[in-house]
Amino acid sequence: MRVFLSGPMGSGKSTLGPWLARQLGKPFVDLDLFVEQQAGRSVQEIFTEEGESGFRSREQSAVSSILSSTPYGDALVALGGGTITNDDVRRRLLREGVLVTLMPPLSALQQRLGNGENRPLLATRNLESLLQERRDDYLECHAQLDTVAMDRQAILQNLRELLATPPLVVPLGRRTYRVHVGSGVRARLGGELDRLQGSSLGLVTDSNVISHWKDFVTPVGDRQPDYTLVLEPGEAHKNLQSVERVWNAALEHGADRQTLLLAWGGGVVGDLTGFAAATLLRGVRFVQMPTTLLAMVDSSVGGKTGFDHDRGKNLIGAFHQPECVLCDLDFLSTLPDREYRSGLAEVVKSMWLSGASDVAFLEDAMAGIRQRDPSVLQEMVCRSVALKSRIVEADEREAGSRRLLNLGHTVGHAIEADHGFQGLSHGESVALGMVAAVRISCGLGVMDRFVADRLITLMNGLGLPTDLDRYVTSGTWPFLTSDKKREGSSIHFVLPGQPGETQVQRLEMDVIRKHCAT
Ligand code: ADP
Ligand code: ZN
Repeated sequence: MRVFLSGPMGSGKSTLGPWLARQLGKPFVDLDLFVEQQAGRSVQEIFTEEGESGFRSREQSAVSSILSSTPYGDALVALGGGTITNDDVRRRLLREGVLVTLMPPLSALQQRLGNGENRPLLATRNLESLLQERRDDYLECHAQLDTVAMDRQAILQNLRELLATPPLVVPLGRRTYRVHVGSGVRARLGGELDRLQGSSLGLVTDSNVISHWKDFVTPVGDRQPDYTLVLEPGEAHKNLQSVERVWNAALEHGADRQTLLLAWGGGVVGDLTGFAAATLLRGVRFVQMPTTLLAMVDSSVGGKTGFDHDRGKNLIGAFHQPECVLCDLDFLSTLPDREYRSGLAEVVKSMWLSGASDVAFLEDAMAGIRQRDPSVLQEMVCRSVALKSRIVEADEREAGSRRLLNLGHTVGHAIEADHGFQGLSHGESVALGMVAAVRISCGLGVMDRFVADRLITLMNGLGLPTDLDRYVTSGTWPFLTSDKKREGSSIHFVLPGQPGETQVQRLEMDVIRKHCAT
């Protein structure tokens, strides 16, 4: 796997780079030298003749050459200080390797750079303001390492751990966070808590989770929670009373702005705790440690938090991103089958949104998925989180493309509500909602029959219900009009086509209803 070493000028990229590459057995590439070789001129000359923008475009094409060249497939690349200021380049680097930012304190940088000789940017810019300007870009990385606080060996050790199981990064500027997926990743909680330096830690969970995982104390490491709040399990308790319990527990334990909450449970615990964190003292930080498949692949990533109201699910809420997400696949071993399948519906949804290779993965891995084979789970959760992250990065607050994630949810919610949120799980309702969406897509000519059959077969194979007519009643449709995504008499409806070719169209209620009928 490629490693990209980023960081401001003077952070140690070119001194540490070759040494780290040797230790890791990787070829070393210095991006500035690469640009100089391609241009036949020095960086200084390029800056003088073509300005910073000329240099950046040369740098961008150098990155493209490196990413597309096989000999550099496993290289360690020392970037330039400003390479990551280009949004496209930065996000490509994040996806195609491990991007590490070396970030010593400002004072150390100032001392090292002295009068800025051979640093063309410092001829016109002040280091402090340059760093301030790039701060958010530098935060979008797999890890930030302080090269003054850490010695070479510690940095090497950190890199080795990152390369063994790299986290997925949700790149949102200063709200950037990482999602760790794997068996045993709960052991990383201690390190994450040290990094976050909270003043106090409140653990929120539910009675099922705690009964299965009583010995959880070990994974928290040296850092014991200051208190543990055990909520009643299930959607019926996803209400304001539960949120109040989270607020009260935190305040009774002297919460301040540096308090951390840890949501350890399924989507219900995650959404409630996230909302309580978003509103407590106008916002404290929280960590997600999901224990259901649904929460791992869907609700723990993306920052939607909230609770249910008598008039509908999730009607009250806020966007509040977690500080990190730890998806420990071991937790799935005690998850009841029905809950597991409920999560699979969201997996199918995500993979269909993502594209052909993700759908093919599901089709090929069917048996392993049913048996909860650890390596299949790992890949399935990673692929789902990666899709979610791509969508959230493009549209954090659901002004556009994030609507795609509602695939199957419009009719799904109506069916779920019609059944009084009992009898059908959320995932089962979403699966039925996807069948409805498939019918509407076919009716409108967006999807053809063969593709439709492929999606239905996939859901059947994973044990999800697809017999829509059995569950839709005349009572289903009034719930459609109370959908929170409604605008007037029409609704933004997500229409699946081929894998990766889903679209959103405004549809009138009666069009939806007409095409849903067989
Ligand atoms: P979701 O994640 O699907 O939104 P919930 O948070 O309501 O749903 O969790 C579904 C049910 O599974 C709840 O009863 C919860 O207590 C239980 N649960 C959550 N995680 C586990 C687990 N790892 N093992 C066993 N039961 C679990
Ligand atoms: Zn859902």
